[in-house]
Amino acid sequence: MDTRIDLHAHSTASDGTLSPAQLMAAAADAGLDVVAITDHDTTAGWAAAAEARPPGLTLVRGAELSCRWSGADRPISLHLLAYLFDPAAPDLVATLAEVRSARAVRAERMVALLRADGYDVSWADVLGYAAGGTVGRPHVAQALIAAGLVPSTAAAFAPEWLGRRYRVPKTEIDVFEAVRLIRSAGGVTVFAHPRATRRGRIVPDELIVSLAAAGLFGLEADHTDHTPEERAHVRALADSLDLAVTGSSDFHGTHKTVALGAELTAPAVYERLVAATSGVTTALG
Ligand code: AMP
Ligand code: FE
Ligand code: FE
Ligand code: ZN
Repeated sequence: MDTRIDLHAHSTASDGTLSPAQLMAAAADAGLDVVAITDHDTTAGWAAAAEARPPGLTLVRGAELSCRWSGADRPISLHLLAYLFDPAAPDLVATLAEVRSARAVRAERMVALLRADGYDVSWADVLGYAAGGTVGRPHVAQALIAAGLVPSTAAAFAPEWLGRRYRVPKTEIDVFEAVRLIRSAGGVTVFAHPRATRRGRIVPDELIVSLAAAGLFGLEADHTDHTPEERAHVRALADSLDLAVTGSSDFHGTHKTVALGAELTAPAVYERLVAATSGVTTALG
């Protein structure tokens, strides 16, 4: 049987709806051999995931970092997946703590904007939905759904709601700084859904060329937010820069419709990824 490797999944440590332990069980149920836990800006789910890892499932501990590139006329937001880095590296710990606390302030502002327009959502409820994890717009979306204002998370991301009207920008890590922080913590970085035009503005290929020179490990080509043309473009770019190509589900539980294992990474790429890390954090298998 083929090895099934999914390197991008969220838990309740950020905006997924399964706890880290439930995520491990779901990964086994989905027939995965390798799964990565990649919560937004946190490693808080690592211990519980490791604890619950069923025999036969390899766990790659990671995170998805909220990053920014300031080289365009307006800064562009982007996500870097980071794998097998030292979760105690002081600079990284401090940076992630800053990003998370800014996210809470920002979500509270979004709630205040909604309330100012007369919508009955509360910050306490949003914090409750985040359940101690990294707060994000999906948690504000839950409050909108509970208030009967929108029917689904996807609807809450429409421009008239959290997509634009009530969106408040978040504090993000300079993308080159993020690559540097993860490299010096012994890990590797993969640019998540780099070509997903449906998610917003995308960065030019020239940035990816510079990131490759700065030590970026790979590009996520196979992602549900990429069209076949976008996947092909990412693949060709990765080949030309000798970057690895990954494919992953970006599973978020019921916050999104994609299933675990919907997109996969090739075993040879996974092996190359592990080999490129320092070994300070190993894959558990
Ligand atoms: P934030 O990082 O707080 O700005 O929230 C962004 C998160 O919302 C992403 O990581 C996704 O999990 C989720 N998201 C973004 N767009 C959508 C959408 N159209 N439908 C559902 N979830 C979305
Ligand atoms: Fe998310
Ligand atoms: Fe992402
Ligand atoms: Zn993600």
